[in-house]
Amino acid sequence: MVVAMDKLLLLLTLALCGCSTLARPDFDQAFTGKCMQVGYNHANRKGGSGEIGFEHVVISGDWPGSRTQLIDPNDFGKYRVEMRDLASQRLLYSRGFASIFGEWETTAEAKEFLKAFEETVRLPEPRLPFRLAIQKRADDGSFQDLATRDVDLAVDRPWRRDPEQLGETVPIFVHGDNATHVDLLIVSDGYTREQRDKFVADTRRLVEVMFTTEPFQRRKSDFNVRALFVPSKEAGIANPRKEVARKSALGLSYNAFGSDRYVLTMDDFALRQTCAQAPYDTLILLFNERKYGGGGIYNLWATVAADTEPAAYVFVHEFGHSFAGLADEYYSSQVAYEEFIKPGVEPWEPNVTALLDPANLKWKDLVAKDTPLPTPWGQQHFDEIDLAYQARRAQMLEAKASEEAMEGLFREVKGSTAPLLARERYANAVGAFEGASYQAKGLFRPEVDCIMFTRNPTRFCAVCERAIERVIDSYAR
Ligand SMILES: [Zn+2]
Repeated sequence: MVVAMDKLLLLLTLALCGCSTLARPDFDQAFTGKCMQVGYNHANRKGGSGEIGFEHVVISGDWPGSRTQLIDPNDFGKYRVEMRDLASQRLLYSRGFASIFGEWETTAEAKEFLKAFEETVRLPEPRLPFRLAIQKRADDGSFQDLATRDVDLAVDRPWRRDPEQLGETVPIFVHGDNATHVDLLIVSDGYTREQRDKFVADTRRLVEVMFTTEPFQRRKSDFNVRALFVPSKEAGIANPRKEVARKSALGLSYNAFGSDRYVLTMDDFALRQTCAQAPYDTLILLFNERKYGGGGIYNLWATVAADTEPAAYVFVHEFGHSFAGLADEYYSSQVAYEEFIKPGVEPWEPNVTALLDPANLKWKDLVAKDTPLPTPWGQQHFDEIDLAYQARRAQMLEAKASEEAMEGLFREVKGSTAPLLARERYANAVGAFEGASYQAKGLFRPEVDCIMFTRNPTRFCAVCERAIERVIDSYAR
């Protein structure tokens, strides 16, 4: 019996290992192999949690995602898209995500007026009629329907079109089938036609740093990385604070939500049309600027300024948000969010906890027996130093200081906080350190320092690293 079981396991293992190049019967039965993009507007309403207005369905290009990991194995994201077979209600596909709207609704502005944001979900095209649900996470962590739509593609007639070739796709490294690899696409913004080679060189430089950072380094062979060059008419992107109005290829702009360094585009429909010409699971929008900035939203995209001194750091940090749903672990920088995480609610992000139930801490298995929870650290002293820097940074922003001067300040911060954190009694231990996700009190991060906390370290904390690997697994199988 034992031998027979071993043989069975061996056969199963061989079947699983060899299956990457074989057809997927379940997938092929339910899906056509094409990629379906559903665009909708997400708007607020007074006292409500958001209205969804479906806009379009486009079938364009091949489905680049996993053909086995169709039901989201990770429970990340403020929102989730679910697709069910209409007749049987069998769940066909699900993915968690976060959105610009989801951040905006936590700002003061959202209480003042109504606004709509373009959003797109990408799914494999099903063969049969389906029910699509856009869901929002409730305080208890469960998902509730915000909107549903029954679709029969034979009747509803989506736009079917070959992706428009609006740019040039440059392979950086391609290790295998799109279906069994993470397809990372880096797209240009604010680069003129003459700056094509600069964009490719910028991409290579930043990708190299990412893949010398764990866990990306050891999982490099699970990635396909490509660059998509789309020319802009002028160099650089818009910056409302400096009255620079610029319509770049992707429409990126500084000063999102009034935060000087936060860079987003509100043109998601146009962006998806542009990116459809290359296979991708995840996007980084690389923009041609000397001024510090970026952003990253889970399963949406990350943005990064190419030419600042900490560009490589920002590239990895923002990808941590957009790829693996990691929260910011810092808490003292100025942000527009009023109550990003409600008191008494456990955040969905894998690297932040409200520590409501220390015995069941979500990264408990990584905590050594002799590490206390919460874990003591010199927060008061760190805050004194850090807040003084934040005040200087705000003054310099006000005085429109040069990028060189700002970078000098960053170096000074690093010089004084890195040794301070390294001397902590529980440095490099996993615990629960108070101060995370824009709140000094009541939220906790896993280690005293991490790429998601300061610009000091060159490594993710153990909890962030594990979350990233789990997301890689959800694509690379
Ligand atoms: Zn971390």
